[in-house]
Amino acid sequence: MKFTNINTWLVILPIVLFFTACGRQEEKLPPVKAEKKLNVVTTVAPITSIVENVAGDKIRLTGIIPEGINSHTFEPVPSDIKILAAADLLIVNGLDLEIPTLNLARANMKPDAAILRLGDKTITEKEYIYDFSFPKDQGHPNPHLWLNPEHAMRYSMLVSDELSRLDAKNKDAYDANSAAFLKKLEALDHAIKESIKTIPEENRRLLTYHDSWPYFARRYRFQIIGAVQPSDFSDPSPREVKRLIDQIRKEKVPAVFGSEVFPSPVLEQIAREGKSRYIDKLRDDALPGKPGDPQHSYIGMMIENLTTMFEALGGSAEALRKIDSAPVAGSHADYRRKD
Ligand SMILES: [Zn+2]
Repeated sequence: MKFTNINTWLVILPIVLFFTACGRQEEKLPPVKAEKKLNVVTTVAPITSIVENVAGDKIRLTGIIPEGINSHTFEPVPSDIKILAAADLLIVNGLDLEIPTLNLARANMKPDAAILRLGDKTITEKEYIYDFSFPKDQGHPNPHLWLNPEHAMRYSMLVSDELSRLDAKNKDAYDANSAAFLKKLEALDHAIKESIKTIPEENRRLLTYHDSWPYFARRYRFQIIGAVQPSDFSDPSPREVKRLIDQIRKEKVPAVFGSEVFPSPVLEQIAREGKSRYIDKLRDDALPGKPGDPQHSYIGMMIENLTTMFEALGGSAEALRKIDSAPVAGSHADYRRKD
């Protein structure tokens, strides 16, 4: 019996050792290499969110302008070079919003990397809007196209086409996500139109500090009374301040809107002396909540802005509340937030 056992072990042991050795060897092998994802860099958070909706987890996505930073004066620092140098594709708004970033990109991106300028492919030069904060004689049009959801739809289609061109194996995912996102944008557009009907016609006017709503106003027939922030981001002249106070008194504008990014004692004074309400809650390039929150998205930002705006102007934002703002394929982008 004993002999048999030993004999059995003599046979089994090398087999056991062999398999153990194989197991160890397998453990030493590097993990199965993940397929390399397209490395995409965007600029402002709403555009990052649009790309995130279209791409889901199929790309690596970094918004180079840290969320909450003033995009109009943002200058990349030298350490941002490595983000641009590693990118396969840079997606910008265009219309001169990101000149310093584009300069740095041209000097440091890989020779075969692509740059997609969304705004430049969305409207023609004839449709550019020049205004108080973006005067024609300075040659830089108002760049805030994305606050018009119709333009956001076009952005989404352009992004989907470009990602499919550069990364054809994921085309089906980009197509499906983009279609789902477009449906939500259409629902948003519809809800905006419904909500605006609840605002008394004489109140459908905007006086804002930061001049970011003209393309929105063009689509939904709002009148822009004015913006307060001059093109050099300084304070307006006393004469301009007086003109605006007289105008909102005369026209009985119920509310004027400041921005969270640009605190404005001047606009507060204009509102007070014009006997209007001052609301400093609008934002054009920072998303509400934090990455992973359903409202941390382009649609979430629009709903929050428009709820604030429509209710202050005497309307209801009920229709907007029914829209699901969460990114259609989850939250995957790096927004480079400081908190
Ligand atoms: Zn802006």
